[in-house]
Amino acid sequence: MLFARSGPGRGYERLLVVQRPAVGLRAILAVSSTRRGPAFGGIRRRWYASEAEALDDALALAEAMSHKCALAGLPAGGAKTVVLRPAPEAEPQPDWNAAYEALGAEVAALHGMYVCGPDLGTGEAELAAVRRTCAFVNPADNDAGASTAAGVHAGLRAVWRVLDGPSRAARTVAIQGLGAVGGALAAALRREGVEVLGADVDPATCRAAAALGVRIVEPAAVLTLPCDVLVPCAAGHVLDAATIAGLRCRAVCGSANNQLATPQDARRLHARGILHAPDVVVSAGAVIEGVLTVQQGRDASVRARVREAIAAIEGTLGAVLDEAARMGQPPTAVARARAQRLLEA
Ligand code: NAD
Repeated sequence: MLFARSGPGRGYERLLVVQRPAVGLRAILAVSSTRRGPAFGGIRRRWYASEAEALDDALALAEAMSHKCALAGLPAGGAKTVVLRPAPEAEPQPDWNAAYEALGAEVAALHGMYVCGPDLGTGEAELAAVRRTCAFVNPADNDAGASTAAGVHAGLRAVWRVLDGPSRAARTVAIQGLGAVGGALAAALRREGVEVLGADVDPATCRAAAALGVRIVEPAAVLTLPCDVLVPCAAGHVLDAATIAGLRCRAVCGSANNQLATPQDARRLHARGILHAPDVVVSAGAVIEGVLTVQQGRDASVRARVREAIAAIEGTLGAVLDEAARMGQPPTAVARARAQRLLEA
């Protein structure tokens, strides 16, 4: 069962289960592919209902990173670490500083096969602990949220073109999750005069977005608001049979990884005539910044190349959307097939 999931372009090359009871660390590290170069991927820390759920998340997210790097044309593969957060009432709680140091030692032992970075539940404070034991970490001065927001913004330009052609019709977007990515994107869209509706479960985050001119709506309502584009920037798996039936947007284009709950949901969106920009294309901004800065350095010329490569997401997504329209296929299926061809080449 575990070995059947491996193979070129699919599954994984390396799967580590890391357990350090002394510090409370329980983690699963999945390297999906290094065929195109060292594997990049963040460290996600969250509570999981079961070990099987954590394993599935690690494998799916690692594979998505391989696809993301291939589609962005990066000389890099994909990986992901998930750190299993215990329930809040569990005693004792992990010593997170020591746990991230121990995790860093595991990543260091892979000698550069895997370069780790931030993800949900792991920010700069945690990565500082990882850096004490490991050199294979995204640079501290990268801004993953801003880079990802710039990539989604580039993706939206391709989506507008498909929806409206050259016209500059009034546009409304609804953003679910106004954190690092959603907040930065909201600010950029407001500067362009786009009407932005937004929801977040955190009141302080909502207040900050409202100050930018975002019209705050209830989290429970954001998926069903009439708008041009729905932008999921909170959790994954938000698009399932029930939520898709309630959508009142023309397109979905956001950063949340693995937005579709099941592969059939791509067909459901397609059947409803809702354009779905694949998240593996749209959310590549942070890994583009990570790969280029780790491999080429961080001077001004590299930073300029990072900006260009992120802006190129518009063209990459445009090509995927055009092919999907020609073939009558959901864009996610086209992106997946393209990524697999690149990984198997
Ligand atoms: P973040 O934690 O900074 O922001 C997420 C926000 O969503 C938070 O403010 C949270 O309160 C809010 N939220 C959670 N559940 C919600 C709900 N049900 N309704 C409304 N709001 C809700 O995370 P981020 O870095 O902005 O990432 C957003 C998404 O993009 C995540 O799915 C992440 O995996 C994905 N992503 C992020 C990056 C990156 O570089 N940050 C890169 C690729 C993909």
